Amino acid sequence: MVQYYLPMGMRYSTLEERRQFYTGNFSPQKAAEWFHQGLGRTKFAVIIGRHTKIYPQKYKQDASTTIIIDEYQTIRDVQTQILEFLPEAVYYDRNVYDANDRKVGQELAFDLDPENITCPIHGTLADKMKQLQGLSFCELELEMVKKEAVGLYGFLSERFDDVRAVYSGRGFHLHVLDSNAYILTVEERLELSKEVKLVGFHIDEWVTSGEMRLIRLPYSLNGLVSRIVLPLTKQDLETFDPIHDPRCLPRFLREATTF
Ligand SMILES: [Zn+2]
Repeated sequence: MVQYYLPMGMRYSTLEERRQFYTGNFSPQKAAEWFHQGLGRTKFAVIIGRHTKIYPQKYKQDASTTIIIDEYQTIRDVQTQILEFLPEAVYYDRNVYDANDRKVGQELAFDLDPENITCPIHGTLADKMKQLQGLSFCELELEMVKKEAVGLYGFLSERFDDVRAVYSGRGFHLHVLDSNAYILTVEERLELSKEVKLVGFHIDEWVTSGEMRLIRLPYSLNGLVSRIVLPLTKQDLETFDPIHDPRCLPRFLREATTF
């Protein structure tokens, strides 16, 4: 198996660590507060072990499947289901659904990932793919992608009122919560992502167009790097240090060692 290179201290979480995190470290309250209009009919999703190949034996067949969680009463029920699957990743569906499960809108989001950054050491994404390192990234790339996130935050703030930044564990997400952004058409989203790319931001077009509608749940665990998915203010974002910031370190790492 190919070993990915990751910034110092970042590594896969074990099943036991995922269990510890979602039992005592995860705050369902905070996760619920992310949804300012309430949870409504928000769908959640988990991937148990697609990238890490770490999964409970009983879910071997479904380790790489995207499992939707849409039957729950409260966020605590969602937590219970997460604890059942012990996934490497937890997402929510940005689509907004009506009572008949019809899509009536979609939250606008932008995904900035470090592997899309051309690194002075590791090269372009194509170079990394050649080395089977498409999911790898280094501290330099993380710093560069953070600068892009700051820039994109500024760019979006000129057009929208409610822009939120989230550290995803690998890179950064920018969410636009303006109500008029929910009703943009696919064409308008593609137009916007084209524009953002022309300015020089390395976004994942699939996320902005809406084709990939899942996005990491804030305050969940990114099990590929053992970091907590963390909402950040604009000021936070500029000085944020994902390697050491205690707010994104799960307790199992803080108690473990050298930080
Ligand atoms: Zn690099």
